[in-house]
Formats: sequence, structure tokens, C-alpha cells
Amino acid sequence: MKIRLLDLSTSEEKEYDWDIEQAWLDQVFKEEDETGEPMFRSLSPMHLSAWLYRNEAEVFFRADLKGEYEYSCSRCLAPTKESLHVEMSGMFRPRADGEFDEPEDPSVFLYANEEVDFSPVIRESIVLQLPLNPVCKEDCAGLCADCGANLNETTCQCEEEKIDPRWEALRAIRDASKSS
Ligand SMILES: [Zn+2]
Ligand SMILES: [Zn+2]
Repeated sequence: MKIRLLDLSTSEEKEYDWDIEQAWLDQVFKEEDETGEPMFRSLSPMHLSAWLYRNEAEVFFRADLKGEYEYSCSRCLAPTKESLHVEMSGMFRPRADGEFDEPEDPSVFLYANEEVDFSPVIRESIVLQLPLNPVCKEDCAGLCADCGANLNETTCQCEEEKIDPRWEALRAIRDASKSS
């Protein structure tokens, strides 16, 4: 996903198309996951179309990323497919001598050695799209914390046995008022 500056035109946009391999995507997902157990997985290569043009040393781009990935629901662990479609635009400029930090502006990227590398753009675009607490559906009931039953598919006896103490107090009041 590298392009030599010399290949870019200053007069018109040039289109590039890449298939982004699953191994590379899985690496991005893995880095994003702090638990060590990968929550996100790639299902197939993603596709990136990018349009670039150059103005002196600055390279402007817009790009369109499409693909699919899979995750385990954070409540019930069900494997869930999600599609991803990101449109982005920004620019590359040469890294200055002694410039080690990345620019604060998220749409500005640096390059060196007369070559722009699209990998950080793609990585950032994907990472920003990933949900924090991915669920299989908004109202997923999750797993029972006691017996592990999937509460979307079944009910378990745990809740009935475990009466919330606040309700217990209310019931006592109700029973008391009945008997008086
Ligand atoms: Zn779920
Ligand atoms: Zn249960």
C-alpha cells in the first residue's frame, strides 16, 4: 500500500485499488484488543479505492474502504457479522528532520523517502469504526452470570431464586399491610 511520489501526477487524480489481506487486518484487530483474546476478526479481504494527487511535496487523497468483519457479542458471545464502509480524505506531507511525533490533526499523515504509505490511514479508519461494546443486537439479554445460559434463547431458574433484597423489603411491607 505504498506509492512512490514520482508516480503521482500534479495535474490529475490517480486511482489505486487494493485488496487488504486478512492477515494484515487481523493484526490491526489484534493490536486494538487489550484483552489479548481477539474480539474482532476479519472475514475476507477488505477493498480500498484511493484517489491521489500531488501538489509539490504534499499529497492529497480521498479513499473509500469497504469490507466485513466479525466479532463476538460482548454480552452473549455470539459471532456477529458487521459490514464496514469508511470514506476518508486527508493529506500526506514530508516528515521534517527531527519530527518524531505524528501530527495532531487526524487527517494529516507523514511520509519519508519519497514514498507515501497508506497503511496508517487504513489502520486508523478501521480502528475508529470499531464499536466499544459490540453487541449482536441492541436488546441482547446476554448470558446468565450464574449458570451461563444464553438468555436470548432460554430462561433459567437463577433469577427466580435470587430475589432482589429491595423487592424483599417491599414484599414485607405489602404483606404487613394485607394482614392488618
Ligand atoms: Zn448478544
Ligand atoms: Zn441462570
